[in-house]
Amino acid sequence: TPIIELADVDQIYAGRGTNVEALRGFTLDLRDGEVLTIVGPSGCGKSTLLNILARLERPSRGTLSFRGVNADNSDVEIGYVTQSDTLFPWRTLLGNVEYPLEIRGVSKDVRRERAVSLLERVGLKGFENHLPSELSGGMRQRGNIVRALVYDPDIVLMDEPFGALDAQTRLVLQDQLQRLCAEERKTVVFITHDLQEAIALGDRVVVMTARPGRIKVVRTVGLERP
Ligand code: ADP
Ligand code: ADP
Repeated sequence: TPIIELADVDQIYAGRGTNVEALRGFTLDLRDGEVLTIVGPSGCGKSTLLNILARLERPSRGTLSFRGVNADNSDVEIGYVTQSDTLFPWRTLLGNVEYPLEIRGVSKDVRRERAVSLLERVGLKGFENHLPSELSGGMRQRGNIVRALVYDPDIVLMDEPFGALDAQTRLVLQDQLQRLCAEERKTVVFITHDLQEAIALGDRVVVMTARPGRIKVVRTVGLERP
């Protein structure tokens, strides 16, 4: 059974006068541990798709299932990383990464060990006690990513997480993210408007195209992994 199964989904927003068709007949299957990247121009429906997967929006038509169970009844845990910096400004980097474990009642020793290990694996050893304001944008975004992974969610959704970073930082973070997701065997849906990034990170790449009349052409490209 696929971990994510999106079948024939439409998303239509009621606009002034006309409706906006953000998704039409969108179908997608994801296997456990697969990294899927979605690339396409602005306005083609990428965020809409991610919001549906995150269950922040309900599709106008079609179904979403996780491991064969309708999303409404599923208990899958979903991590979400966005382009904007969502670290708590009043907490240290370590305090931020520990937070999801803290609210799940994980003991102090266990959560500290897990958070410290993840921070080390993205090159942030030594910065544990810094506040977000004392870190660079790239460091904060690494913090956001490990905070989304720390409690071992079933699925991680990423909406242009490197969109605000310079090209060199982006490459370093792509590399770290790829290693981390492989080590943690994470199922990831990653959105970007950068084709190079989509190809570098994805086991599979879905290309979304906005066409006149808002009809989506979706192509899936399978890639060989070394
Ligand atoms: P992308 O993430 O690829 O830039 P979006 O999913 O944000 O695209 O948007 C797809 C289309 O749906 C766009 O035309 C956008 O204006 C429209 N749209 C998105 N959200 C809403 C909304 N809440 N209400 C009305 N229109 C929306
Ligand atoms: P807790 O330790 O109870 O989980 P937090 O560490 O999340 O609390 O927050 C610490 C304190 O900061 C809380 O008392 C909270 O009310 C307060 N706080 C909430 N929002 C902000 C903010 N935007 N900036 C600074 N402090 C905030």
